[in-house]
Amino acid sequence: MRETDLSGALLTWYDRHAREMPWRVGPAERRAGLRPDPYRVWLSEVMLQQTTVAAVRDYFERFTTRWPTVSDLAAAEDADVMGEWAGLGYYARARNLLKCARAVVAEHGGTFPDTRAGLLSLPGIGPYTAGAIASIAFDRAEVVVDGNVERVMARLHDVHTPLPAAKPELTALAEALTPVDRPGDYAQAVMDLGATICTPRNPACGICPWRDPCAARVAGTAPELPKKTPKKPKPTRLGIAYVARRADGAWLLERRPDKGLLGGMLGWPGSDWGAAPQEAPPLQADWQTLGAEALHTFTHFHLRLTVRIAHLPEGANPERGTFLPPAAFRPSDLPTVMRKAFDLARPALETP
Ligand code: SF4
Repeated sequence: MRETDLSGALLTWYDRHAREMPWRVGPAERRAGLRPDPYRVWLSEVMLQQTTVAAVRDYFERFTTRWPTVSDLAAAEDADVMGEWAGLGYYARARNLLKCARAVVAEHGGTFPDTRAGLLSLPGIGPYTAGAIASIAFDRAEVVVDGNVERVMARLHDVHTPLPAAKPELTALAEALTPVDRPGDYAQAVMDLGATICTPRNPACGICPWRDPCAARVAGTAPELPKKTPKKPKPTRLGIAYVARRADGAWLLERRPDKGLLGGMLGWPGSDWGAAPQEAPPLQADWQTLGAEALHTFTHFHLRLTVRIAHLPEGANPERGTFLPPAAFRPSDLPTVMRKAFDLARPALETP
């Protein structure tokens, strides 16, 4: 089958089966002349990096309700944005989100550039995101390759080279299929196919628009593709979090430095994270160790966080951190690992 026939078959399928998403302008709306809002496309693409559509929906709705335009977001307080982002993970994305919004306002008059090159010049926008926005928001014929697209290409062409070595080959195959007509819809169509039909475990080949030309279906190799080079097991690091509450109910919290893991996020004062963390209490107190640890997995390591708790008197004077009164403290502002520590500590600290 020729490339144009392949992309045409997929677009016909997309016209009937496109997923509805709050940031998406579906095929029927596009035909009616509606165009996607680049701000919403950009925001969704940044949120979707390393995160599922299901996890992103609520965050997207909250962000766009609170900050409906890129100018609104650019004018937001850093702490408010970090707070709304809490729980989505990969916090560098939230810091870059703000930098990018401010650059769009300061350097582009509040309008996103409409080319891949222009988008690439913005903070926090890498090649994948630039291609996705150029394609989806501006209908440019850019190749957009995420994990879904890699899987679909590996199967369609029965590619057995393991990832990540296969990336250039899969990208070239995806590029060859990108049509000049409706490239934005096409990019979303391949993603939808990968997410709903050509799924990792049980591809539904029987109802796939590429059923006939698919080489892996014919060879019976679809479920085992794409091949992957085995990952090294993740190491485990240890750490200590100090969760303290003052007699008036205020919690002792600390904003983490901008650089590094969980940068700019609110958290509990703590030790370094490593093989043998050093005690680093924010003040002398009667620290009690909880029986359970907060367990969390980051991209490159597992963390086992020992949680120590303390009741502090009114005049407590810590070397680190700031007391937040209960009315100003929203547990939802905490990144997930700090929230886990809080959930463990809360019952014992409920009564100041
Ligand atoms: S036929 Fe099966 S393996 Fe091939 S693209 Fe479709 S769902 Fe994937």
